[in-house]
Amino acid sequence: MSPDPRPDLLSLTPNELDDVLSSHFESRGQPAYRAGQVRSWIYDRLAASIDEMTNLPAAEREALAEAFDFGEPVEDRTQKSSDGTVKHLWRFPDGELVESVLIPTRSRLTLCISSQAGCAMKCTFCATGWGGFDRQLTAGEIVGQYRGARRWAEANDYGPITNIVYMGMGEPLANRKAVMPSLTILNQGYGVGARRITVSTVGVVPGILALADRPEQFRLALSLHAPHSELRSELIPLERRYPLPEVLDAIGRFDDGGGKRITFEYTMIDGVNDDPELAEPLAELAQRVRAFVNLIPFNPIPYQDWAPSTPARLRHFAETLEQAGVSVAIRETRGRDIDAACGQLRGHTLVQIEGSK
Ligand code: SAH
Repeated sequence: MSPDPRPDLLSLTPNELDDVLSSHFESRGQPAYRAGQVRSWIYDRLAASIDEMTNLPAAEREALAEAFDFGEPVEDRTQKSSDGTVKHLWRFPDGELVESVLIPTRSRLTLCISSQAGCAMKCTFCATGWGGFDRQLTAGEIVGQYRGARRWAEANDYGPITNIVYMGMGEPLANRKAVMPSLTILNQGYGVGARRITVSTVGVVPGILALADRPEQFRLALSLHAPHSELRSELIPLERRYPLPEVLDAIGRFDDGGGKRITFEYTMIDGVNDDPELAEPLAELAQRVRAFVNLIPFNPIPYQDWAPSTPARLRHFAETLEQAGVSVAIRETRGRDIDAACGQLRGHTLVQIEGSK
């Protein structure tokens, strides 16, 4: 983590930002509107540095840069898939790297962001898990991926980002210290509607409860992957710490919080968790919390020789769920050719492998 003792402007919530800027400019005998100017440079104009804030006198820019950090990540590499999906590799000042992915469809532009550098969860089917955990991201580093990707999208005719999913590297609810304020910043600062922001978790119960307590209608996705504990614990080590019944109780609380939508993510791995007999217990769970089920064809990773379920098996599984009255979608695989699909983000590890070639 950066030893920089200065507060990072990009990590502050809008209220905190207003407070620190107001007292900063007041102590310098500057007019009160200066705080609003800086705020607008950050949230509306996406200034990449304090230097760009040209309606501030040069001396004020200098003083601001002395008092505050502005932890914007640097675009290290950009890869574009044949299907239009774009993966960015972002570099932070300490050299740490994370990935974010822009996924265009006809009606949306979804940004998938990382919440940690690496991941400690070690899910057996996920490349990020195999790479291990490096460090937590700060709120500014999470938000920085959005700022950078939005700037890139604007410059490359991808249009505005309509949705944000915390489905990149890391377990967002294992980094609540940064993820919780990052949600506030994206929502209140950058104006991304809460219902357009989805936090995906493998089942960190205290985090689900904390999210349930928030008044905003952020969406929650639970990475389920198996309808009972026994099979789930083979895929997801965290199942032993927070067993499925506990996770579902917590999810129930979330749902009761008023109109909040739950999604179950279910990665379909051939011969591992795609037995048609599993569709029924899955349907029961989905109905209990009125969850929408997203079936994700398994994306190959270098560490396992598993394969995705066959299209016929996938369809059959989906139909069984539908017949039981569950809303279900088969998630279209995007960006596989650039390793940008679900579970393929590796950040650091990828670069090490390529660097050693
Ligand atoms: N840690 C959070 C955020 C990551 S989301 C979570 O697990 O929910 C990434 C999604 O992709 C999760 O649903 C994850 O289970 C899924 N995934 C991981 N590896 C995958 C793979 N190889 N193929 C398809 N989906 C995968």
